[in-house]
Amino acid sequence: MPPKPRGRLFFANPGPTNIPDSILRAIDRPSADFMDEGFIALFEDCSARLKQVLRTDGHIFMYAASGHGAWEASLVNLFSPGDTLLMLESGYFSESWTEMAHKFGLSVETVPADWRRGAQAEAVKAALAADTGHRISAVCTVHNETSTGVTLPVAAIRAALDETKHPALLLSDTISSLGSLPYTMDAWGIDLTVGGSQKGLMLPTGMSFTAVSQKAMVAHAKATMPRHYLDWSVMLTRRHKSFVGTIPTQMFHGLAEALRLLEEEGMEAVYARHHRLAKAVRAAVKVWSGNDGPQLFCTDPVRYSDSVTAILMPEGHNAEGVRKAAARYNVSLGGGLGKLGGRVFRIGHLGDLNEPMILGTLAAVELSLRDAGVPHGRGGVTAAMETLSG
Ligand SMILES: *Cc1c(COP(=O)(O)O)cnc(C)c1O
Repeated sequence: MPPKPRGRLFFANPGPTNIPDSILRAIDRPSADFMDEGFIALFEDCSARLKQVLRTDGHIFMYAASGHGAWEASLVNLFSPGDTLLMLESGYFSESWTEMAHKFGLSVETVPADWRRGAQAEAVKAALAADTGHRISAVCTVHNETSTGVTLPVAAIRAALDETKHPALLLSDTISSLGSLPYTMDAWGIDLTVGGSQKGLMLPTGMSFTAVSQKAMVAHAKATMPRHYLDWSVMLTRRHKSFVGTIPTQMFHGLAEALRLLEEEGMEAVYARHHRLAKAVRAAVKVWSGNDGPQLFCTDPVRYSDSVTAILMPEGHNAEGVRKAAARYNVSLGGGLGKLGGRVFRIGHLGDLNEPMILGTLAAVELSLRDAGVPHGRGGVTAAMETLSG
């Protein structure tokens, strides 16, 4: 066994993300009665403030589950077996949401895409225009595809629905964009947003939610899929109106602190910080891509993700070698998911991060490329500093 590395773990995964110390302190408290009036007030306050982050007047339903639970809630609450969804292909997460929908007896049409770019809005529009009988009940999109580092233009997808006058619902997974990329649920005409705790919200894993429009509530009333724990109608009969069963009270103290941190910085500043740090990461990768080195996986600059960068290895080199080399320096990088296993590694740059944390990670990655014998252009960290300076 190699000695345990000292110093702080540099956690550069795109989820879970770093948990700020003040959130850890907020969570560190004994069990409490979730029916206590004081806690109910905290719960309702968290829900109202989360709605402001999402920019929605819709209702938020919460689950003691990771993001997959909120995905499942979106399917069982809105649809009946046999309904048809139009899924925008983006990567591993659009594939996983599709796999889940199939298991619930839904029929899924896919707008196919090159994973390095994600589905195109024109192709979505064509698929909707071709559906003259309005068989498609909902369009599903992953706002930020965490496996590829590609951000999809949700507003353009809304426009495709409007221009074809298609009545389908619009569902958007914001798990890796919430609190890190601009998101305006109501202005973009989104009917359901899926969110989770352990990415931009900087919380531990284990809570997720859906924000739901009026139009989606109407669809819910007609949906016949079996459900209970995730059932919005059951939730509405409960005291908190958005939870079934015992509420993880500590998580809500953490959420209140997470929201306070976001509000204190200001959402515009939060988004600007993510953009600044992401640009520094991309500048480093562009230098590394010299000398036939690893390159940005995303090939469409307008879709570069400001919350995660996926880096494609040169032929003949395995990304796991770089991840292992980085682990020896106590740096945790994200690996390739699904068919990208071994072909990409990912630097998560969302959540509680600043410039020196990013520079430290980039320096460790550059060192790890050397250690793993991966060809690359030298000087990525210098290029990153140049984008950050001044
Ligand atoms: C992480 C993630 C999920 C899955 O969430 P879990 O919390 O891992 O269940 C779904 N969609 C996206 C875009 C994600 O980044």
